Amino acid sequence: MARHVAGAKRIALIAHDNMKAGLIDWCREHKAALEGHELCGTGTTSRLIREATGLHVKSFLSGPLGGDQQVGATLAEGRLDMVIFFSDPLTAQPHDPDVKALLRIAQVYDVPIALNRSSADFFVTSPFFAEEYSYEPHIVDGRRP
Ligand code: PGA
Repeated sequence: MARHVAGAKRIALIAHDNMKAGLIDWCREHKAALEGHELCGTGTTSRLIREATGLHVKSFLSGPLGGDQQVGATLAEGRLDMVIFFSDPLTAQPHDPDVKALLRIAQVYDVPIALNRSSADFFVTSPFFAEEYSYEPHIVDGRRP
């Protein structure tokens, strides 16, 4: 079944501690492009982005306290269109199982997920970032051959 994504997208923003400054900087740079969207994020990330940019970002719990799981559940319920997650590839995370679960569920539902700044740049400069689009999600279904 085709998925219809509105121009105003529901976007989750997440950054691990060492990557937060980078995501805040990215949000500052793309503030105008982000303003028209419905933003949410894990606890600390969302608060820091709000404080630094004035963007309206709804807060889930902090990542290590279940925020990544909340983002994953929201995505599985079809209430998120995109995830921008500046994850730290060089530091062990206490909530690594939750992070893995979020990545897995984004793959399962074929929801766009940017894991670094260059990918996020591609997303934000895509014509689809601000426009409606429809696509046929390649939902992973283990029951299919
Ligand atoms: P935080 O969580 O925004 O609450 O720091 C992010 C994470 O570590 O997943």
